[in-house]
Amino acid sequence: MSQHVNGTQCSLCGAVYAPDEVRYVCPKHGDVGLLDVLYDYEKIKSLVTPADISKSRDFSIWRYFDLLPIADHSIVPSLRVGWTPLYNAKRLGNELKLQNLWLKDDGLNPTGSLKDRASAVVVAKAKELRVEVITAASSGNAGAALAGLSASGHVPAVVFVPHTAPEAKVAQLLIYGARVFLVKGTYDQAFELSLAASKEFGWYSRNTGYNPYTVEGKKTASLEICEQLALAKSHDSRRSWKTPDRIFVPVGDGNIITGLWKGLRDLLALGWIEKMPKLMGVQAEGSAACYNAWAAGTETITPVDAHTISDSISVGLPRDGVRAVRAVRETQGAYLTVTDEEVLEAMRKLAREEGVFAEPAGATGYAGLAKAMRENLVDHDEDIVVVVTGNGLKDIHAAVKAAGQAKMINPSLEELGRALAS
Ligand SMILES: [Zn+2]
Repeated sequence: MSQHVNGTQCSLCGAVYAPDEVRYVCPKHGDVGLLDVLYDYEKIKSLVTPADISKSRDFSIWRYFDLLPIADHSIVPSLRVGWTPLYNAKRLGNELKLQNLWLKDDGLNPTGSLKDRASAVVVAKAKELRVEVITAASSGNAGAALAGLSASGHVPAVVFVPHTAPEAKVAQLLIYGARVFLVKGTYDQAFELSLAASKEFGWYSRNTGYNPYTVEGKKTASLEICEQLALAKSHDSRRSWKTPDRIFVPVGDGNIITGLWKGLRDLLALGWIEKMPKLMGVQAEGSAACYNAWAAGTETITPVDAHTISDSISVGLPRDGVRAVRAVRETQGAYLTVTDEEVLEAMRKLAREEGVFAEPAGATGYAGLAKAMRENLVDHDEDIVVVVTGNGLKDIHAAVKAAGQAKMINPSLEELGRALAS
């Protein structure tokens, strides 16, 4: 464990554990007491400054090595994860009457989703712990991320996927050489089976939330947003970075929004940013357990029967639901839900206006922003970042649904002329 890690703390009861004392969750309440990693911020400040990081030529998550819970830089997987672009989306901004709209395109990670960030840190941790096998349950992207990063880090992976996962996602797992099991059941059942297998065979579990380091990986997305926004706004990034006013994030199991929040809390504690942005969680209407809890003013997550085109955020029981609800409540943000139709429209908008091809879940954050603008929840002069969490090639059936079919013609100029005129 790194010298700047103080330990872990249970998000439910507040119990504090020494570094490496507990591998996964707080032993006091089964599999639900998720742990936050605690840092010695004074120590970090003595190791590194924003100026040091700004000078780094490492354009990956590992430029933030001193803010991550890994002790030895030589064990990190070589696959390049992170430092994805933050695009200034002027056309979509104009359309929504927003002066400053930014898209963080995390579909450009090596396996095509933000989850590469989590897997990179977990694979490094697995190497630190010298485990022999890593396992995870996944609706697709987390599994692909684990398979890719495990291949890069040379640690065997076993992945459990619900049998309904899109073909392209399963193909991705297989090509990276992971052992893949298609579970005849839901994501939640695949999750339970993966946990049971981890306990039975001693495999290291990457399961989202259950493993405290997935959040540590995902937090790098908000570290980048703040550093990149400072660069884009020509702010002097040697001393401090910039936060937007709001960040729109798709929410399924709740771990991504929790990760973004953790990164922001770390930066605030270090004094590297001045304020906490409002986190805006966007869920599919058919998979809205976090929204429901937030709207009811509770932290009790009631499972739902999840159905949505956004398969990556189709989650009946969000494993990181409690922290995901807190992330929004404590930052004075809001939860929104969007329909599948609104998601398909968001996919078209992102691709046609800005050239960003998102899978349905990846476009859900933008769908939420469009709805928030219609409902006057956002002022026109606010700085807005939308996180696009996954690449459109992950699910081509959904893309065809959003874009329609191409017209078939004979190889004849005459016929082309008629087709163009019609
Ligand atoms: Zn606890």
